Amino acid sequence: MSDRRGQIAAAVTTFQQRLAEVCAETGRNPDDITVVAVTKTFPASDVELLAELGITDVGENRDAEARTKVAEVAARWPALRWHFVGQVQRNKAASIATYADVVQSVDRVPLVTALDNGATAAGRQLDVLIQVNLDSDADPGRGGIAPDNVLGLAQTIGESQSLRLRGVMAVAPLAAPAEEAFTTLAEVSAGVVAVHSGATWISAGMSGDWEKAVAAGATHLRIGAGLLGKRTLPGVLLAR
Ligand SMILES: *Cc1c(COP(=O)(O)O)cnc(C)c1O
Repeated sequence: MSDRRGQIAAAVTTFQQRLAEVCAETGRNPDDITVVAVTKTFPASDVELLAELGITDVGENRDAEARTKVAEVAARWPALRWHFVGQVQRNKAASIATYADVVQSVDRVPLVTALDNGATAAGRQLDVLIQVNLDSDADPGRGGIAPDNVLGLAQTIGESQSLRLRGVMAVAPLAAPAEEAFTTLAEVSAGVVAVHSGATWISAGMSGDWEKAVAAGATHLRIGAGLLGKRTLPGVLLAR
């Protein structure tokens, strides 16, 4: 355990130093960037170690795992902000709405309805991001709505009772350069902000491509391996 603490502390320090450098190089202010530690497949004790190091935004991608982890940690760390970053099955929406603070992966109207109903029933407000599919040969398996349909979905979220639209999110496609994808996402974001002035978040960038996301204006980075080390199983597989 104390080893693990040292490992994570070193990774956080290295990451923050590199983030400061990249911000200096790209004219960004580090205070405008939130690092979301993606803790999927890692134990609740890692979430607590991160919290002790000041990382209080946490990302998960499976309902059952997230729910358990929140329950383990919430009493000691009530102020953590839990981001759901994985694809949401509609029958899990009501559950997710009871513990998530942010759902980053909203990509269709039925999900808006299900999350809104769940949040309203739980007496909670959820911050949500629209996940944008930036892959031109749209692989629906990876989630996200086509850029052309984002404003329509944004309007539906705007009309909901308990969801607050905060911005957009994307995973860079495997097949195309990440710079292009993040530039497109920034354009989509500008279109959303023009109509929904509070929806300024841009969640982009994972361990392998976050520097490019910072350059393109990301406000939220989703970092798993870069803070916690390699997952023994890829989270995508575990999400099935
Ligand atoms: C797992 C995951 C991440 C973090 O990936 P790393 O490569 O470990 O940084 C970010 N975003 C989503 C949607 C994920 O599922």
